Amino acid sequence: MAAPKFCILGGGVSGLTCARLLQRSLPHAEVTVLSSSRLGAPAVCTSKGAKMQVLEQGFHNSILVNKNGREALGLLKLLKLEDQVLSANIEASARRHIFHGRVQLVPGPQHVLLHGPALLAEPLWPRSKKLDDESVFAFVTRRASKMLATYLADPICRGQLAGDAKELSVRTCFPRLWHNEQRFGSVFLGAALSTVLAYRRRSWMALDLLDPLLQRVAAGGRCYSFRAGLSTLVGALEEQLMNPPPGTNAADLRRDASIETLEPTESGKPRVQLRDGFQLEADCVIASIQPTALGQLLKRSGLDFAVSEQSLSELLLSIHNKSVAVVNLCYEKNVLKEKRLHGAGCFVGSEQHESMLAMSWDSQLYPEHGGSDGAHMTLYFTIPADAPQGVELERLMEQAAIKAVTQQLGIQEEPTEIRVKVWQDAVPQYLLGHHKKLQEFNAVRRRHLPWLQVSGPGYFGTRNIADEIIDARELTDSLARRFARFPGLVENELEEDITRRMEGF
Ligand SMILES: Cc1cc2nc3c(=O)[nH]c(=O)nc-3n(C[C@H](O)[C@H](O)[C@H](O)COP(=O)(O)OP(=O)(O)OC[C@H]3O[C@@H](n4cnc5c(N)ncnc54)[C@H](O)[C@@H]3O)c2cc1C
Repeated sequence: MAAPKFCILGGGVSGLTCARLLQRSLPHAEVTVLSSSRLGAPAVCTSKGAKMQVLEQGFHNSILVNKNGREALGLLKLLKLEDQVLSANIEASARRHIFHGRVQLVPGPQHVLLHGPALLAEPLWPRSKKLDDESVFAFVTRRASKMLATYLADPICRGQLAGDAKELSVRTCFPRLWHNEQRFGSVFLGAALSTVLAYRRRSWMALDLLDPLLQRVAAGGRCYSFRAGLSTLVGALEEQLMNPPPGTNAADLRRDASIETLEPTESGKPRVQLRDGFQLEADCVIASIQPTALGQLLKRSGLDFAVSEQSLSELLLSIHNKSVAVVNLCYEKNVLKEKRLHGAGCFVGSEQHESMLAMSWDSQLYPEHGGSDGAHMTLYFTIPADAPQGVELERLMEQAAIKAVTQQLGIQEEPTEIRVKVWQDAVPQYLLGHHKKLQEFNAVRRRHLPWLQVSGPGYFGTRNIADEIIDARELTDSLARRFARFPGLVENELEEDITRRMEGF
């Protein structure tokens, strides 16, 4: 039997995870990863401060231990990273804040009084069967109260998705909330029932409930990182891809690859052409690059098929991304403790009219990353689309960060170190109706480009690394099933394969 050939475009966490899981399921497969940058870049960007603090300038610190977060721990076990996993400080990770004129702990006694009745009444409201999608803000207002939507949903959408709760789709951004209402009639009752159902439908990657790694992370706080920072994950994926267990083909990892075109050949298989002349004919191409980059590539390749009233590339290019800046601030002494600030960090709502989205108090979440007795934190800002790029923008972000800690946290000390990183068009915005775009994209892809698959942010609503790992597992499981049964017949994609990945939509 001929070995299936996979070509993965993009060497971020999604692309590398797809490659590693394919290698595991189909040891004889030929897997090539083409990345335009170093592996893991740009999102994974760990650096060391002057006092050896671990500073994350991109994909930041945590994978939340929700259903996907728990399952994603299985990948760490596969990569033999158990000893490297660092659970967050349990006390700090339990204390989250929102900035509303001042930094407030959530939930405080006043919030229980204010929002408790609306939350308790939630199971009583009838489910809405007529709606196809809804904004996060409208959903929370309908199921709970406008006050809760303003007070909680708005800052969470800004802090986690750099987006506006009134524009983001609840169906794509918070699929479990949406489905719990659709399926069980209540977000809260559904959460309880779906936890039980999810446990019964666990995948091969999910750890057993009594697994020591799961127990350690669950008992240590709701998120985790690695002793040497998140680049550990990329390093381990790269290492296993190049030096897999005996009997498994090593992957071909090509950095700084500039992809020119994707061309279907006479055999129906796609040929990937790089600018340096390298060519590769594959059975299946997995694009783990942004939708806009894929749209441009398909256009360049003359594969711009019609979708409703627009073309495939126009549809992909209409999935927008927001630009954000990440600022790391280091202090000589524990300024947070002096201000009696203890916790994971703080989200900032839009009614504060701040460009700051959120801040994370890293040295409290992961004291092991502290390096010294000082403190360090990370602040996130949105950058207006028309902001000038370059040194000037970085200086503005630096000033905004100092102003935020001075005014919001009352910290007057000068930081000993400041790092700024600007992320252009980095955070996908899943706007109202995103699921329809994906359904249209999938219909055209299956008809005209059956050899193409997509993974990563911007498509199936993946919002963090854990979601990406689970989506990569879902995709590679379905590919492995198909290749095992019908070698070479990539077009034999089942409805089930798509619906499993779109379960949350
Ligand atoms: C500032 C920031 C903070 C974040 N913080 C967190 C967090 O705390 N927790 C969390 O879980 N998630 C976080 N995320 C989200 C997380 O980082 C991303 O979801 C994840 O890294 C995306 O991985 P990816 O591999 O799909 O995409 P990317 O990391 O974007 O990788 C895409 C890869 O494709 C390559 N590429 C792009 N275009 C081409 C092309 N045309 N040809 C070839 N290669 C190409 C790139 O070089 C890159 O290697 C954060 C994201 C950002 C931007």
